[in-house]
Amino acid sequence: MSSRARWVAVATVLALTVVPAALPAQAAAPEDPPALTLASGEAALVRFRLPDEAALQRLVNQGADLAARPRNQAGAVLVDLVVDDRQLAELTGQGAVPMQVIQRSSQRPQLRTQLQAAQADTLQFLQAYWWTTGGKTFLQTQVATTATDDPDVEITVTWRTADGTTGSFPLVRFEDSGEYQYHYTLPRPLPAKPVQVTATSSLGGASRAVTPAAWPGATPPATPSGYQKDFVDAYMTPVDVRARIKRLARQYPNLVDVINLPNKTQGYRRTAVAYLGNPAAAAVVVESVPFGDQGMNGVQVRTVDPGLPNRPLAATYRDRVLTLRLATDAGGKVISTTDDVAAFVTARYPQRFRAFVEDGSAGVPMPITGPVRLDDGLKGTEVPKAPWTVQALRIGKVRDGSKPGVLAYSQEHAREWATPLVTLEFAERLLANYATDATTRELVDSVDVFVVPTVNPDGANYSFNDYNFQRKNMVNHCTGTSRDPRYRDSWGVDLNRNYTVGSFFDGYVGASGNCLSGTYAGTAELSEAESGNVVALVKAHPNIGLAMNVHSYGGYFMWPPGAYKADGRVTLPRPTIDESKFFLDSARRIVSAISAERGTVTWPSYTGPVADVLYSAAGNSADELYYQLGIDAWDFEVGNDRWNETTQQWEGVGFQPPFDEAHGESQEYAGGLVELVRVARDKAAAESSDRE
Ligand SMILES: [Zn+2]
Repeated sequence: MSSRARWVAVATVLALTVVPAALPAQAAAPEDPPALTLASGEAALVRFRLPDEAALQRLVNQGADLAARPRNQAGAVLVDLVVDDRQLAELTGQGAVPMQVIQRSSQRPQLRTQLQAAQADTLQFLQAYWWTTGGKTFLQTQVATTATDDPDVEITVTWRTADGTTGSFPLVRFEDSGEYQYHYTLPRPLPAKPVQVTATSSLGGASRAVTPAAWPGATPPATPSGYQKDFVDAYMTPVDVRARIKRLARQYPNLVDVINLPNKTQGYRRTAVAYLGNPAAAAVVVESVPFGDQGMNGVQVRTVDPGLPNRPLAATYRDRVLTLRLATDAGGKVISTTDDVAAFVTARYPQRFRAFVEDGSAGVPMPITGPVRLDDGLKGTEVPKAPWTVQALRIGKVRDGSKPGVLAYSQEHAREWATPLVTLEFAERLLANYATDATTRELVDSVDVFVVPTVNPDGANYSFNDYNFQRKNMVNHCTGTSRDPRYRDSWGVDLNRNYTVGSFFDGYVGASGNCLSGTYAGTAELSEAESGNVVALVKAHPNIGLAMNVHSYGGYFMWPPGAYKADGRVTLPRPTIDESKFFLDSARRIVSAISAERGTVTWPSYTGPVADVLYSAAGNSADELYYQLGIDAWDFEVGNDRWNETTQQWEGVGFQPPFDEAHGESQEYAGGLVELVRVARDKAAAESSDRE
């Protein structure tokens, strides 16, 4: 029994015992209530006045179900009881007086309306924004219901324009990591600017009427006449990017430094490998320990029958041919198994070869086969194989660390081909317009800009030459059978999951420990040269206060937190209210500048913290820069969806759209990066005037 229940029981006993049964019966008798009759079999909830305490005691002893706690009133006892006609007669015969019929069993309230009233939810607009692009007006809303746990709630938004036109559309429920977030839809086309929206719910709830706000609601600075742009005319490989960096440094020596980042990459290289045997039947995978380009491409491997009894497993490596003489029994029959051969090769030539049994070939007789040629399988014959030096451009009149620093870095993910075009177009706009445009000169004189067009050149080379959807770098951390060459397009580390804050290794969501996963986090935090380079650049230049990590595609503008833990969806710490306001105000400016180019509007629902608007990305670089290094670190996903008027659908553009689209992305997002630099300049100016 709970303490509260115990207290109630004690109180009941007190009530029963304290009320003196001998209280004078002459206490003023209330006026007689109207007579109560019940039809045969009808039941009612009735409040009775009992003549004395003994009558109550009798009821309790009979097991009567007292519907409410008995109360004492003027010496009598009031009880609420459910009785039928027979019990009513019995009680009145014992002196009980019915005082009030609370409810008859025949009185059934309208269940539905009562239920709805009890369960009606409350709706609230989290966002209601409109904008116009390409001559079309769009509305986007997010609505939260208080019925967060009911997956069947349907929410409808109704809009009205100034001329009285109305329409409505349903929202869809959005959950993340099992937690209800809100209801939303993609932006909806409207005939004109909406002046009012309301939301209603299938549970009967309704929102207040809301006036949608204009998005992004900022005006970009006018482009000066004669402003030069359009510096990219094709997709650019890492070789092209390196050549462009070199050219810019030569052309603008007073404005540019080239920074060689400290960690060389592995290079566009891989070990050489061959199946010894038929992988569908019985095979051993033989792999070189050095890379293929280090003299191992073209090396041959074979197994032979020694043709003599009682021979041990043996090998020779001569003239780039590895010959494996299999073991025989007393009758001269070959007895080596696949396991024997794999273990023998690995042990015998640890500097040159490693071998493992193909999946499904364990413990079977080793076939006589070969020779087969080891090969790294790389198709990019024109690509330099050596470890790569990742480079940054440093742009500014004063490059001594005294000016506010801004970092733009792109192509952490190899397949995002449009992203180095964005950062290079941005860099060249600053440089080319310096001599001819006073506003550019004033801007460049007041800041210190760092640009890393290609963080992941090895992966980019692989994406351009071998497998265009390559996302990761080229470092293969797999062991055992996941090194099978059939998985060659799945090796590598996701660099934007390899950082130290909110990482996979810390238990955050959105990265993997599987070496074949697209979001493989690496063997440890910062295990990769490329992620180490980003951190090294920022640490070496503590004036960097703002950073933009440029990805594709989808059309997002995001900031921390970028990760949460699955259990309870606990994110990294939220920015303060002041910071969040600065982020959103800056986003509005930058989104507005992006839209100036060809009308592309990044959606309000895609503007916000990574963890809220996209997904959890454990160990991403923006979180590293923000939480570890104190930088306002944001992310672009360039390549916004395009509205198809014919199908009335938003269509994705992908990682490698036709060049015209990639060119458009480079132009509009370069404009966004220029505005980012203005944001940095204005923030620094505001902070220095605060100090004065
Ligand atoms: Zn990406």
